Amino acid sequence: MLIERPHKLFRLFYKGAIWQINTDEKVIYLTFDDGPTPEVTTKVLDILDAYNIKASFFCIGQNVINYPEIYQLLISKGHTVGNHTHSHLKGFEVSNEEYFANVKEASKYIHSQYFRPPYGRIKRSQLRALQKDYTVVLWDLITRDYNANLSNEYILRNIKRLKRNGSIVVFHDSKKAEKRLLAVLPEAIKYWIQQGYTFKKL
Ligand SMILES: [Zn+2]
Repeated sequence: MLIERPHKLFRLFYKGAIWQINTDEKVIYLTFDDGPTPEVTTKVLDILDAYNIKASFFCIGQNVINYPEIYQLLISKGHTVGNHTHSHLKGFEVSNEEYFANVKEASKYIHSQYFRPPYGRIKRSQLRALQKDYTVVLWDLITRDYNANLSNEYILRNIKRLKRNGSIVVFHDSKKAEKRLLAVLPEAIKYWIQQGYTFKKL
């Protein structure tokens, strides 16, 4: 079983969350988690601009407070933003009250109908409650660009063999992922384009 592509049982467990967009079109939904991050998010924006791609950024509330000008840049360039909690909480490790309060705190700074739980981990009771206010977005392919043990080649190989219509793909505009992200993203975009894919935001 591949970690990069969530198993269908996992998808059933979080029924109601969006994993993939149902479409016959050759389209990829690029998403970036954990920013805004100085010198990383802006470089991602340069790469996206070069190909005129709009994407979706799941931001951490505290990072939006720290780097409001980068957050504004995301908005002004027409990308979609989503709520990724205020302090990147693991749903399983905190009470529902604490989790909801953290999401609410982030919502003061991030105005969005979209929410993505950090680590893709959330209690089902938390998911059910948040779905009243948010479209909860998970993913069809996680690049694992945050993992320093993975080579660029390994990440790119998975991207190539796991491509499919309507795929929601996760990268991380974080310091942890920076090296692999900035090397792999342009190569992946070139590959998808060469294969006839276009890009959409949520
Ligand atoms: Zn995250």
